[in-house]
Amino acid sequence: MNKTQIGTKESQLYNMPYEIVIGLEVHLQLNTKSKVFCGCSTDFGSAPNTQTCPVCLGFPGNLPVLNRRALELGAKVAIALNCQIAKKIKFDRKNYFYPDLPKDYQISQFDHPLAHHGKLAIITGETEKNIRIRRVHLEEDTGKLFHQKDSSLIDFNRCGIPLLEIVSEPDMNSPEEAYLYLTALKSILEYLDVSDCNMEEGSLRCDANISLRNKGDKELGTKTEIKNMNSFKGVRLALEYEAKRQADLLKKGQRIIGQRIIQETMLYNTEKGITEPMRSKEEAHDYRYFPEPDLVPFDFEESLLNDIEKNIPELPEPKKNRFIKDYLLSNYDAAIMASDKNTANYFERCAVLYGNPKTITNWIMGDISAYIKDNNVSIKDLNLKPEHLSSMLKMIDSGIITGKIAKTLLMDVIQTGKDPEKLVKEKGLEQISDIGLLEVAIGSVTAENPKSVEDFKKGKDNAIMFLVGKVMQKTKGRANPNKVSEILREKLKGAK
Ligand code: ADP
Ligand code: MG
Ligand code: ZN
Repeated sequence: MNKTQIGTKESQLYNMPYEIVIGLEVHLQLNTKSKVFCGCSTDFGSAPNTQTCPVCLGFPGNLPVLNRRALELGAKVAIALNCQIAKKIKFDRKNYFYPDLPKDYQISQFDHPLAHHGKLAIITGETEKNIRIRRVHLEEDTGKLFHQKDSSLIDFNRCGIPLLEIVSEPDMNSPEEAYLYLTALKSILEYLDVSDCNMEEGSLRCDANISLRNKGDKELGTKTEIKNMNSFKGVRLALEYEAKRQADLLKKGQRIIGQRIIQETMLYNTEKGITEPMRSKEEAHDYRYFPEPDLVPFDFEESLLNDIEKNIPELPEPKKNRFIKDYLLSNYDAAIMASDKNTANYFERCAVLYGNPKTITNWIMGDISAYIKDNNVSIKDLNLKPEHLSSMLKMIDSGIITGKIAKTLLMDVIQTGKDPEKLVKEKGLEQISDIGLLEVAIGSVTAENPKSVEDFKKGKDNAIMFLVGKVMQKTKGRANPNKVSEILREKLKGAK
C-alpha cells in the first residue's frame, strides 16, 4: 500500500460523521533469563520443546515460584507509565481450554493488577495528549501452535515466558493516535531495557479495540477487537480499514435492518489489507477467574519500589526538555533526538565531541536518517560512529572538505567504516581553495557556458549559481563554493 492510498483513506476517515474510539492492549515479553514461574530458559529460537519442565508443562503436583526479576521489570514499566503500584501482589487463574495452554489455565492477575491509573503522553501535531493507562499486569505466555496441512505442531518453549499486559483506556480517536501511542510506548520500553520489543518475533503484541459513535455521544459504541498485526504500521492500516468498515455498516444500518456492528474478534489479513471475523464475542467468555492457591498474595516492599524507581533512566520526555535547555534545540528537533535511546545517545556523543548541536541534528535527520530508513538499520549499528561524524563536521568547518564532499564521504564511511580523515587523504578529497586551480576550472566553465555568462552580465544574478554549480561539477564537488562565486563575480564584472 502506498502513501497516497493511506492519505485517501485518512481523509475519508476524517470526513465521516462518527467519532473513532480506540483502546489498545499490549502484551510485552519481559527479557528475563528464566521463565516467570520456573527456571526454564527464555532464549528465543531454540529447538522446539527443549526449554520446558514439569512446571511450565503443567504436570500435576508442581508448584510455581515467582521470578523476582519479572516482577521488578513489570514494576519498572508501571512506574515509567506513571501508574499507581498495587501494594498487594496477587495472582489468579484464568481458566480456558486451548491446546497451547497445558495447565488449562493461565496464571494472570484479575482484580488486583500490579498497577493501575497511569498515563502516557503522545504528541499530535502541536499539542500533547494524555492517554490513560487502565492497568498493567503480569501473566505467563502460552505455547505456540504451528498449523500444517492436516496436523498441528506445538512448541512449549514460549509457555511461561513472563508477559506484561498494558491496557489503555479507550482514549485514542484515530488510527494515527494509536500509532503514536505505540511508538511512544515502545520508546519508553526501549529506554527501560525490559524487552526486545520486536513485533515480528512476537515479543511485543498488540490487540486493537475500536468502535465508532456519533460525534458528541457519551456512550461508547459496539467495539471489535483486531488481532494479528505484526507491525505498528499494520495496526494503523488495520484500524483505518476497520473504522471504514464500521462506518459503512452504521450508515447502512440506518436504512437496512440487520446491518449492525457485532462485537467480535477480527484478524487482520496483512496481504489483503482487510479485517476478517475470527470468533464472535457476543457471549462474553467466562474465564472463571479465582485466586491462584499456589502463589500466596504478598506485599510489595516500599524499599524495593524505591530501588526500582531509582534505576529508571532518563525517559524521552525529560530528556527532550533537557536537550532543549542544554543544547538549545527546537522543541521539534529535541523530540526527535530524544524519541529513541540510540538516537539520543548518538546525538549526545556528537554534541560532546563536536559541539554545534543544530548542525548535528541536521545531519542525523537528513542523510543519516534517510540511509537508516532505506536500509532498515539501527543508528547504533552504523559504521559511521559519532567519532566519524564529528571529525567530518570539523573538517567542513576548517575548510578541509566542502559540504558537498561531506555527503559522499558520509556514504563512504557508512559503507567501509574507514576513518573519514584517512579517506579524505587517500582519495584526495580536500577542498580546492587555491586561486590558480579554481581559475582554471572557472575559465573552462565560462567558455563552455557563454549563455549564462551573458545572462549574468545582463543582470540575471541567478546565472551565477548555475555557473558555480558547473564548477563544482567539474571539480567533483571539491571547489570552495564561496571562493568560486567570489572569483566569478570579479571576473565577469571586470569583463563588462
Ligand atoms: P474486553 O473484556 O473485551 O477485553 P475491556 O473492557 O477489558 O474489553 O477492554 C479492553 C480494551 O478495549 C481496553 O483497552 C479498552 O480501552 C478498550 N475498549 C473497551 N471498550 C471499547 C469501545 N467501546 N471502543 C473502543 N475500545 C474499547
Ligand atoms: Mg480484550
Ligand atoms: Zn519450565
